[in-house]
Amino acid sequence: TYGEDAGDEDDLEFRPPVVTVMGHVDHGKTRLLDTIRKTNVQEGEAGGITQHIGAYQVVTEVGEQERLITFIDTPGHEAFTAMRARGANSTDIAVIVVAADDGVMPQTVEAINHAQAASVPVVVAVNKIDKQGANPQRIRQQLTDYGLIAEEYGGDTMFVDISARQGTNIDALLEAIVLTADATLDLRANPKMEAQGVAIEAHLDRGRGPVATVLVQRGTLRVGDSIVAGDAYGRVRRMVDEFNEDIIEATPSRPVQVIGFTSVPGAGDTFLVVDEDRVARQIADRRQARMRNAQFASRRKRVSLEDLDKALK
Ligand code: GDP
Repeated sequence: TYGEDAGDEDDLEFRPPVVTVMGHVDHGKTRLLDTIRKTNVQEGEAGGITQHIGAYQVVTEVGEQERLITFIDTPGHEAFTAMRARGANSTDIAVIVVAADDGVMPQTVEAINHAQAASVPVVVAVNKIDKQGANPQRIRQQLTDYGLIAEEYGGDTMFVDISARQGTNIDALLEAIVLTADATLDLRANPKMEAQGVAIEAHLDRGRGPVATVLVQRGTLRVGDSIVAGDAYGRVRRMVDEFNEDIIEATPSRPVQVIGFTSVPGAGDTFLVVDEDRVARQIADRRQARMRNAQFASRRKRVSLEDLDKALK
């Protein structure tokens, strides 16, 4: 079943934090995610050209240690809400972006409420400090009303003043994320089980068929695994990362694009790796359900059952 680490304490290993960026419209979420993606390109990796796959991982140095952070690259809290609604608590830390020239706005408050309801620790990125009229201290004052007290004022929330446009203080923001994770979370998962996780985004690619970006939450996902996500099935034929490079296994907190689904999973669907017998049985059940229920086929684009059977052989 989805949602539990198999084994005991000894099987658990550290995994990087998974971060969602939230905040009011136009406060710079997209720009920030782009800046982080571009400034944290690992050396020697495909000329540093990253593709948008819905999530990515970056490396940052904290206390002379190389640390990884996974970012969900779908700004806004729709993805966050969709995943939570399906019981996939995929976010470990919320970065709430507030424009220093605009201040706390309705969607800022909404984002804080989402994070607090999910007991997800918050790091505040006070953005657009390059702009005239930017007043980062005012943001700190405003946010005390919502229970986010800056460390400078005796609280335990880290605020970092940044400019997503100019790339100012991005390293400090990444460090704040790592430090907040270390201080408040026990991020461990068992990498030695069949993989489980959540689909971040998925679409039908003309050449490659259904392509889904999944986040591995526990276990290790490997090429060749039989996978079920929501009501989509398949066999992992290929996995690629944000540099479009082939990956053969993905460990906890790694986002990866999976090619080999026979239909398109929904964003926020949880996934499981299963043994083939079980998949075969589920497909048989599904086929029966399909014959009984014509409405079944209407929701998502699907390939024929012959193709589906072939793909799983
Ligand atoms: P989102 O709606 O929160 O995703 O906001 P965007 O990332 O689309 O940013 C909204 C606008 O603010 C865009 O025109 C950005 O170029 C601009 N912007 C974002 N970050 C900064 C910044 O640090 N400084 C300045 N001056 N503009 C920014």
